[in-house]
Formats: sequence, structure tokens, C-alpha cells
Amino acid sequence: MTAYDPNNIFAKILRGEIPNHTVHEDERTLAFMDIMPVVDGHCLVIPKKPARNIFDVDPGELGYLAQVAQKVSIAACTAFGADGHTLRLHSGESGGQEVFHIHFHLLPMKTGVPLRP
Ligand code: ADP
Repeated sequence: MTAYDPNNIFAKILRGEIPNHTVHEDERTLAFMDIMPVVDGHCLVIPKKPARNIFDVDPGELGYLAQVAQKVSIAACTAFGADGHTLRLHSGESGGQEVFHIHFHLLPMKTGVPLRP
């Protein structure tokens, strides 16, 4: 299995080397706004513990990450007046993953408003 790269961009965010717009933080997770949002309110939630993606994340960490994703998703939908929601997890290059620190994309959706390309 490929090793976790400690110099990926989200690892740098976790170390405070790159700024971010935090919307939630606790001892195990961080959620922040996506720098290139495809919909208003697009944010990301990541574990603080290193893991590349679905293939190597600790199941307990994944479970907790999903719990936090639920809370932040509900808050984001309220804040952005969304009536729907899409939750995405890309794993591996063929799965569309570009940053190799596991993350959920949280996408508040509004009727009639498509994702931006
Ligand atoms: P994809 O770009 O295909 O969605 P990923 O699932 O790996 O691939 O998503 C990486 C996400 O990280 C992208 O939505 C991108 O806009 C976002 N991103 C990259 N750099 C930053 C950053 N410094 N701060 C916030 N979001 C970032």
C-alpha cells in the first residue's frame, strides 16, 4: 500500500502551515471551506489522524468522521438555505481523488441550482 505523504496540502493545513476557513474543529477532526467550491457552502471534513483514503482509514476514525460530517452538513444546509445535500468521498486517482488525506466533500444543494464545473 502507498505510504501517507505528510506534505500533502491537508496535512499542511492541520499543522497550521497553510491558512484555512475553519467551520468546525474538535480533537479528532477539522472541517473547513473548500478553496474552489462547486456549490455555495462546499466544505471538507477531515480526520486529524493521517490516512490516505477509504482503503487505509481506521474504521473507528471513519465512523467518527461520518458523525461529524452529519453535524456539519446539517449546519451548512441551514446556513446556506439548502433543501438537499450531497456527500462525496473520492478514493484513489481513478476515484477522482487529488489530495491524499481522506476527506468528505459536504455539498449543500438547492433545487434548480446545479454543481459548478
Ligand atoms: P477533486 O479536486 O477531484 O475534488 P479531491 O476529492 O481530492 O479531488 O478534493 C480535493 C479538494 O480540496 C478540492 O475540492 C479542492 O478545491 C480542495 N482544496 C485544495 N486545496 C485546498 C486548500 N488549500 N483549502 C481548501 N480546499 C482545498
